[in-house]
Amino acid sequence: MLACTRCGLHATRTQAVPGTGPCPADVMVVGEAPGFNEDVQGKPFVGAAGKLLDKLLERIGLGRESVYITNVLKCRPPQNRDPMPNEAEACLPYLRAQYRLVQPKAVLILGRHALERMLPGVGSISRVHGQIFMRGGVAFMPVYHPAAALHNGSLVRDLEQDFDRVRGYLDEVLRPPEPEPLAEPEPEANAEQLSLLN
Ligand code: URA
Repeated sequence: MLACTRCGLHATRTQAVPGTGPCPADVMVVGEAPGFNEDVQGKPFVGAAGKLLDKLLERIGLGRESVYITNVLKCRPPQNRDPMPNEAEACLPYLRAQYRLVQPKAVLILGRHALERMLPGVGSISRVHGQIFMRGGVAFMPVYHPAAALHNGSLVRDLEQDFDRVRGYLDEVLRPPEPEPLAEPEPEANAEQLSLLN
């Protein structure tokens, strides 16, 4: 990724931003594309949207260091414009490889661009945010992009509620298995049964 020239964005980037976090990880977070700060630092979600993402993760007991964070595009589009379809296509093999390596149990999809790439055809982000889509045993959960909530404060409440739902799901799938119930004592054999056995 660091040396990639598959699309035109390599010409304007400072550096590629592959992603950060443990591998494997139970939770993978996928955003849209690096912005100004990410392009400078080489890490995803380190600007204002990243601060809100950190808060939302903390709200549900997940430190940033415990989740794998990446984007659909690994290089910053000039002036933070929307990703173009050919750029997303060119970059998708990297996201697929990351997904295979990280082996997440849940994938948080941040915003409409990541949604279009990861769950094409399921509907708009405003309709499906907070829902859980199971694909191959993995839960895909679209939520609003934190940057959208920075522009429209009313989305913060939606984000909080959706993250709480993510927590609920993780509690379900990560809960240690229930201990086996104690075996029922064998009913005492009565005289009639004993006679049948003899
Ligand atoms: N927005 C994104 O989608 N990704 C980042 O890494 C930063 C902001």
